[in-house]
Amino acid sequence: MVEIKIDKEKCTGCGTCVDICPVAVFEIKDEKSIVVNLDECLVCQACEVQCPEGAIEIIE
Ligand code: SF4
Ligand code: SF4
Repeated sequence: MVEIKIDKEKCTGCGTCVDICPVAVFEIKDEKSIVVNLDECLVCQACEVQCPEGAIEIIE
């Protein structure tokens, strides 16, 4: 089971992860990214690579 960690201190709510994720795992709530759809995650790591703040960690 994959785990997604979002560092709330680093996240700016830019929405890149929402735009980049092919299966809509993320939503922005109160200007922070939250995981709403973990079961759909393909572990492609696009979000981890693309987050400009390095706030996302995918743990397999
Ligand atoms: S891409 Fe990174 S900084 Fe931007 S909303 Fe997602 S987790 Fe936050
Ligand atoms: S690893 Fe891929 S599928 Fe999983 S949340 Fe990130 S972008 Fe979405």
